[in-house]
Amino acid sequence: MPLPESFHVLVVAAGRGSRAGEGLPKQYRTLAGQPLIARTLRTFLQQDDVSTVTPVIHADDDDLFSTSVRDLEPRLKARLNRPALGGATRQESVKAGLETLRAGAERGGDFVLIHDGARPFTSAALIGRAMMGARQHGAAVPGFPVFDTVKDVDPDGRIVGTPVRSRLRAVQTPQAFDLGLILDAHRKAARDGRHDLTDDAAVAEYAGHDVFVFEGDPTNVKLTTSEDFRAAEARLLSSLVDVRTGQGFDVHSFRDGDHVWLGGVRIPHDRSLSGHSDADVVLHALTDAVLGAIGDGDIGSHFPPSDDTWKGASSDIFLRHAIDRVRARGGIVAHLNATLVCEAPRIGPHREIMRARIAAIAGLTVDRVALTATTSEQLGFTGRREGIVAWGLATVRLPLDAI
Ligand code: MG
Repeated sequence: MPLPESFHVLVVAAGRGSRAGEGLPKQYRTLAGQPLIARTLRTFLQQDDVSTVTPVIHADDDDLFSTSVRDLEPRLKARLNRPALGGATRQESVKAGLETLRAGAERGGDFVLIHDGARPFTSAALIGRAMMGARQHGAAVPGFPVFDTVKDVDPDGRIVGTPVRSRLRAVQTPQAFDLGLILDAHRKAARDGRHDLTDDAAVAEYAGHDVFVFEGDPTNVKLTTSEDFRAAEARLLSSLVDVRTGQGFDVHSFRDGDHVWLGGVRIPHDRSLSGHSDADVVLHALTDAVLGAIGDGDIGSHFPPSDDTWKGASSDIFLRHAIDRVRARGGIVAHLNATLVCEAPRIGPHREIMRARIAAIAGLTVDRVALTATTSEQLGFTGRREGIVAWGLATVRLPLDAI
């Protein structure tokens, strides 16, 4: 009886390159509202026939990594292994990741797809071809024909050879292998002191295995420079054409106390707001606005006041949850706008810190968060200082297939 098959995925993200700007290693940089690494991982975690996904990260990036994957849906996280810690080169990082899967390599019937963390555009079709390649050949990589003539040059820039173009293939990832085969190949290369092999196909070739090329995807690009990120962002946004607007509204009344929570910020005041949670009217109104934009109930249906779990809860979890619902549909929040109506406290001095806090909760840049405030000219309950009103407005972009 054939062994049951398991497909594991290693996502290699241990590099420290910050050429793409923002000072962060590029895999943690935000791309259309989500960290690049989370986008890449999500692509694989969404494939039902993938058993586990193991990220390989730099030892210093534990916190960056945890923050980046914090918002992945629990359903997806169930198959996400704890990250393996990478080495000084890509080759060492892959080997470290493979060693964490060694139980599967000994068992047999296990395959591994090794993928670059900075390639977020891998299609389900390409992953399917990689699985097929691993199963058929034990070692297979995606590639496509080269349209430019390629030259072999010496250090002086002199051409020393012109390979026959029709035989050349540009290869990318995911590269697909029998797990035992590629782990042994990496161990052999390490034993022999070969650390200069630039992809896993080269490691398998070095160990004497035949490696086959299957049809790659030229749009499965690796993001390296700031220009790559800009182009990728434009590409992602151009597919999010279903633009929707949602509205939210919330009121909380004052009670005795010495502070209020507004927009995730604790503001000293001579009264507090009463409510089941921390009574943050701004975050509640924005949460309803986001849920409203995707027609997905409201804050009360997701977090019933009858449920004591949310008693005294910090309201950032409500807004984060609403945004997760948008992400789960492949969309992004493009803009949040909150309007506060109250006589006091004065909002102006706290506006920028509130904007920054809302942006951090929502995973947005600050320029995509607006906060306006007004009094009601001493009219009505807000004018009598009995409570605070907040309106929320959210613009959400969903992909075409959600229509
Ligand atoms: Mg409320």
